[in-house]
Amino acid sequence: MPLDKYHHKRDFSHTPEPEGKQGDSQGVSRFVVHKHQASHLHYDFRLEMDGVLKSWAVPKGMPLQPSIKRLAVQVEDHPLDYIDFAGEIPQGQYGAGTVEIWDNGNYTLDKKENDVLELSLKGSRLTGGYVLVHTGGKNWLLFKRKSDK
Ligand code: MN
Repeated sequence: MPLDKYHHKRDFSHTPEPEGKQGDSQGVSRFVVHKHQASHLHYDFRLEMDGVLKSWAVPKGMPLQPSIKRLAVQVEDHPLDYIDFAGEIPQGQYGAGTVEIWDNGNYTLDKKENDVLELSLKGSRLTGGYVLVHTGGKNWLLFKRKSDK
């Protein structure tokens, strides 16, 4: 099941994160970027897709210019409820630290091929075309499209 890894890593009697379950995505698809001050600061880019939040940890943050390519490491699917989550994950729990919403909004999936996702984001900070290219294992490359189609 898509959320098994998510549930396995967490003790919901100790973390304020939502337990959640797989939902139905309907209509407009949403995204969120969490700023996650864990043992290392990183940003988590999450896309509503197939009833869950497909998620990538982006150590250096979202690229804001087309010349910047960033490593994005795919992590476990998160439940849709997580899109609104912000708070403190207690010490000793998985991902312990502070989670803030850095940006959120809607997106359209312009293209989906085996190893390539092309997205158009409409957020507060992030707008326009973004590309995720799967480069192997859990690793993807994330960059902003040069021009919007
Ligand atoms: Mn994280």
